[in-house]
Amino acid sequence: MMSGPCHILVITKKEATDAIPHWKELRELRESVPDEPKAEKPDRLEGTMETESILNICDVQDSVEDASRQLAFFFPNFYIKKTDQKVEKTLALIRPSLLKERRHSIMQRIKDDGFKIAMQKEIILSEEQTREFYKEHENQDYFPVLLEQMTSGPTLVLALTRENAVAHWRDLLGPKTVEEAKKENPNSLRAKYAVNNIPIDQLHGSSTPDDAQKELQFFFPQEHTLALIKPAAAKKHKDDIMQKVKDAGFTISKIKEEALTREMATQFYKDHKGKPFFEELVTCMTEGPSVIMVLTKVNAVEEWRQLMGPTDPEVAKETSPESIRARFAQDILSNAVHGSSNREHALKSIECVFGEIDID
Ligand code: ATP
Ligand code: MG
Repeated sequence: MMSGPCHILVITKKEATDAIPHWKELRELRESVPDEPKAEKPDRLEGTMETESILNICDVQDSVEDASRQLAFFFPNFYIKKTDQKVEKTLALIRPSLLKERRHSIMQRIKDDGFKIAMQKEIILSEEQTREFYKEHENQDYFPVLLEQMTSGPTLVLALTRENAVAHWRDLLGPKTVEEAKKENPNSLRAKYAVNNIPIDQLHGSSTPDDAQKELQFFFPQEHTLALIKPAAAKKHKDDIMQKVKDAGFTISKIKEEALTREMATQFYKDHKGKPFFEELVTCMTEGPSVIMVLTKVNAVEEWRQLMGPTDPEVAKETSPESIRARFAQDILSNAVHGSSNREHALKSIECVFGEIDID
C-alpha cells in the first residue's frame, strides 16, 4: 500500500443509499465470469476498469460504517451534499372544501415537509378553466363531481419548491382516490385531508416534471417585458442595475447594447407625442448606447415597473428608496430605466427592437 500513489475514489449512487451492495454486486459478477468476452457483459465494469487485476486489488468497503470511517480518514472535510437531487418546482392545488375547513393545518404540513412556496394565488376556477385544466379527465365518471367541486369556491394554487419536489409531493399525497388512499395508505395526505362526504380528493400534485412545467405555466403564465437602461445610466451604473435585475429573479431572454433609433424611441413613447418634453426625451434616449433587454418572469411587466420605481426620482427616493430610479436616476428625463407600461406595449416594443416576439 505504501509503494506508490493510490487512487481513492468516493463513489455515489444517485437515488438510493445502496451504493455498497451495488458496487459489491458488480465486483462479484466480474469475479464469477472472468473470461467472457467484453462485448457480452455491457453492464459490468469493463470500460471503466480495464483489467481483472485492478478489481482484485480494489479495497471496497462492505458496510456503511466502514465506508464512513474510511471516508472520514481520507477526506476529513468531505461534505455529503444532496446535490444529486435537483431543486424542483411542482404545482399543488388545495381544493375548495379543504381550503375552507383546514387551510392552516395543510399549509403547516406543507412547510413541515420542507417545501417552500415560490408562488401562490387563490382563485375561483371558472367552468371553462376547470375543463381546460382537466381536459384529460373529461370523459371519466367522476368528472361532473370534480367540476362541481372545483368551481364551488376558491382553490389555493401553490408552486412548491424543494429537492425532488414533484415525486416527493406526489408520494405524500398517496393513492389517487380518497377510497384507495384510506385503504392502502391511511397516513397519506389524501386520506388524512379527506373531507367528509366528498368523494373527490382534496389535493392535487403534478405527476412528472414535464407536467409540472405545463401546469405551472397554466396558473402562473410567464410574461415578457421590454426593459431598457437609458444611455446615461448605461454608462455609469450598468453593473449595479443588471445585478438588481438578476436579484429580482428575472430571466434575461434577450439583450443587446445599442443606441436607439429615433423610430424606436418614438415607438416606446408614442403615447407622449405632443407633450412638451417629447423632443428632449427622444434626444436623451438616442444620444448613446442603451442596454435593451427582454425580461421574462411571471407578471414581468408589473414587476419591472415596481423595480424601476416612480418616474420622478425625487418621488422615488421618498416612496421607494430601494428602487432603481431612487438609486441611479439623474433627473426625470435621465431616469435610469424604461419599461413597457402594459403587455401590449411590451409586445410591440419587443418586435420593434428585436424584430420578433417569439421568445422561448
Ligand atoms: P418609462 O415610460 O420611461 O418607463 P414611466 O412609464 O414611468 O417611464 P412615462 O409617464 O411613460 O413614465 O414617461 C416617459 C418618460 O418621459 C419618463 O421615463 C421620463 O423620462 C419622461 N418624463 C415623464 N414626465 C416628464 C416630465 N414631466 N418632464 C420631463 N420628462 C418627463
Ligand atoms: Mg411609460
